[in-house]
Amino acid sequence: MTGAWTLRAPCSGQDGFAPNQDACGSATDIKNLCGPQLPTCGPCPFRAECIATIKPSQVKFDGIAGGRLWCNGEVIDALDDVSDDELAEPKLRPSCGTEAGAKSHSRNDERICPSCRQATREIEARRQAEKPKRQEQLQLDFAGTT
Ligand code: SF4
Ligand SMILES: [Zn+2]
Repeated sequence: MTGAWTLRAPCSGQDGFAPNQDACGSATDIKNLCGPQLPTCGPCPFRAECIATIKPSQVKFDGIAGGRLWCNGEVIDALDDVSDDELAEPKLRPSCGTEAGAKSHSRNDERICPSCRQATREIEARRQAEKPKRQEQLQLDFAGTT
């Protein structure tokens, strides 16, 4: 990483924040290799800068950035106090207000915009409401086969 703030970050001069290319493959490997260093990000005031610089989702990053542990650009572990505010401002797209829009934000290390947040809530509520119905249908199908 570059920038004067990197010298003042708690991880400055420390190793083990990104695995050696040959040493890792799976999420478990990354957890074993980098997970022990995650608490170093706890007091770091530069989490937003760290994520904005590395762009973990976009570059399919493996390792630690911004208080989160990433595997192939996806967060697989995080400190308890991470906040969406550490992610970049959302960029509004034609797909905003849909599940695809919400996925675009997360692929780009951005906060989710209000209309995508609302769409995600509605989709989740619909899924929850449909769950009992699906289970009922499965039971009926099962009963019909006996
Ligand atoms: S958030 Fe973590 S990895 Fe990023 S600069 Fe701070 S201590 Fe280093
Ligand atoms: Zn959006």
